[in-house]
Amino acid sequence: VFDMLVVGGGPAGASAAIYSARKGIRTGVVAERFGGQVLDTMGIENFISVKETEGPKLATALEQHVKNYDVDVMNLQRAEALVPGDVIEVKLTSGASLKAKTVVLATGARWREMNVPGEKEYRNRGVAYCPHCDGPLFKGKRVAVIGGGNSGVEAAIDLAGIVSHVTLIEFDSKLRADAVLQRKLHSLPNVTVVTQAQTTEVTGDGAKVNGLRYTDRQSGESRHVELEGIFVQIGLLPNTDWLKGTVALTNRGEIEVDARGQTSVPGVFAAGDATTVPYKQIIIAMGEGSKAALSAFDHLIRTSAP
Ligand code: FAD
Repeated sequence: VFDMLVVGGGPAGASAAIYSARKGIRTGVVAERFGGQVLDTMGIENFISVKETEGPKLATALEQHVKNYDVDVMNLQRAEALVPGDVIEVKLTSGASLKAKTVVLATGARWREMNVPGEKEYRNRGVAYCPHCDGPLFKGKRVAVIGGGNSGVEAAIDLAGIVSHVTLIEFDSKLRADAVLQRKLHSLPNVTVVTQAQTTEVTGDGAKVNGLRYTDRQSGESRHVELEGIFVQIGLLPNTDWLKGTVALTNRGEIEVDARGQTSVPGVFAAGDATTVPYKQIIIAMGEGSKAALSAFDHLIRTSAP
């Protein structure tokens, strides 16, 4: 039986595992893909105190740091069910089952993709998903933001202060963002809003993005916009399907946590992009992971026999 079992091997999970192991308790990490989203990232410039690094480099550093401690790392294993109880059970797709006194859920999230030609090819070469991360890379350039919900409009307002021009593309006939955000957006001189537009292709010169093609859903015509960057803001999907019905989730699938990272299930804590904590960032996930582990440890010393 583990004292603390961490599910997920991204920044949040790695951080939780290290904080747990440093308490001298029996710690395990089960991860489908150790490193998480960081593995898919190229330049990282906002991991404070490290001026610049690359995703795979940071992922290796995470793994080395975890392996510096006595942590049982079970990589390439997917959790598919959580069974609450005094001893909590985590069932794996492989058929194995792990038992733990406390669990930290850190299964992260993934960006919803447009699924159009060119999107995958030009990912990290003009196609981006995080304005806080990649906005400054497009300083003085032209970009598009796909999606007119709150995150898309927030991204467009944010980017308008950095880039030369923003084209906001919305599929529907109107934006869905809060009125106050829409007012702010429409007050900006360097933003064009295009509604009823279905993005059909990301175009590029082989090395990087040079434009975006969309169909005007009213006229049926295909149009091309020349630009250097595309920020896709059509949703973030938490990896929490396997927890439905066991742990309280929001209607967007985020694990509900309190200020200590406690979920609705006693002994189960959560951290990182999979939770309700706002702003999905590496540094935030790491802070939340350490916090959840400390809360889990606190739970452990209050509930388990000496
Ligand atoms: P994740 O990194 O998503 O890790 C989740 C972990 O859980 C993985 O190990 C995964 O395999 C595992 N997992 C999922 N489901 C299961 C399951 N059922 N069973 C077992 N394991 C499971 N942030 C920044 O701060 N700066 C940046 O520059 C930056 N750039 C980014 C660029 C891209 C392209 C992307 C996609 C994200 C970027 N981010 C950036 C965001 C950052 O990567 C995330 O906020 C961060 O990785 C979240 O950490 P996490 O540990 O919560 O989740």
